[in-house]
Amino acid sequence: MVLTRAREPLELRDIPVPEPAPGQVRLRVLACGVCRTDLHVLDGELARPKLPLVPGHQIVGVADDGRRLGVPWLGWTDGTCRYCTSGRENLCDAARFTGYDVDGGYAEYAVADERYCFPIPDGYPDLQAAPLLCAGLIGYRSLRLAGDAERLGLYGFGASAHIVAQLARHQGRRLFGFVRRGDDAARAFALELGCEWAGTSDERPPEELDAAIVFAPAGELVPSALAALARGGTVVCAGIHMTDVPGFPYELLWGERVIRSVANLTRRDGEEFLALAPQVPIRTEIETFALEDANDALARLRSGDVRGAAVLRL
Ligand SMILES: [Zn+2]
Ligand SMILES: [Zn+2]
Repeated sequence: MVLTRAREPLELRDIPVPEPAPGQVRLRVLACGVCRTDLHVLDGELARPKLPLVPGHQIVGVADDGRRLGVPWLGWTDGTCRYCTSGRENLCDAARFTGYDVDGGYAEYAVADERYCFPIPDGYPDLQAAPLLCAGLIGYRSLRLAGDAERLGLYGFGASAHIVAQLARHQGRRLFGFVRRGDDAARAFALELGCEWAGTSDERPPEELDAAIVFAPAGELVPSALAALARGGTVVCAGIHMTDVPGFPYELLWGERVIRSVANLTRRDGEEFLALAPQVPIRTEIETFALEDANDALARLRSGDVRGAAVLRL
């Protein structure tokens, strides 16, 4: 499924099976998760995708030598810039991203730099493993950057939040879920996943929060989340794109509250998270779509209609 121009549907096309360059593996794709970032690419909100582009950066595939590997968003880094040499390859000046700078997994075959692939933990079926590779990984990084917050708010209860909730409960944190007004299904899902309270984003939780992770790409949630924080608390913005954050009184930030973003992932995040996932154990809820129905999957994700994560089945 190929993107040729922003704001147009993906096209089903026959393209040559990619040949791996030195250092790359070729994968027969088994499953590929659909991520909100893919929508931002399609909508032209991320400015410089390779075109034409095969999107998709939560790839589970089998390599030519039979290994089952996962390919995440971080596809390549230079290894030499000030970020790479200080343990922050997620911020690399020259990073290349899967399904953005290089073709991704909305296809029968993909190639990837082997150094950035992860072995998929045993016990995870292909389809259920796919959302671990971005929703899970970025969620894990977001949770880490939320510090040791005991009372954690999650804004937007999609693929990432449904994984983070399981991890956070496993760590003994208390959860508070925030969903769109009228989205009773999301509210029920949040409660099922261990939130002790679930409400709409303009509501105040019954207690102050020590941290909040904003998954929804809506800038107005940032001041709402700040207003729900205790002193010293952190708002973590987990998405790659967000609408403008509206102005707010300094009082909301006062008291050493922090707003920060999470950008991409490091390989270390991936190794840590994929080791942790089977211990929790994290179970992903998925809705599956055929490859040629990728546009439907994206439309469902856009409307907030997917319970858990959307995954393409190859
Ligand atoms: Zn670098
Ligand atoms: Zn993603």
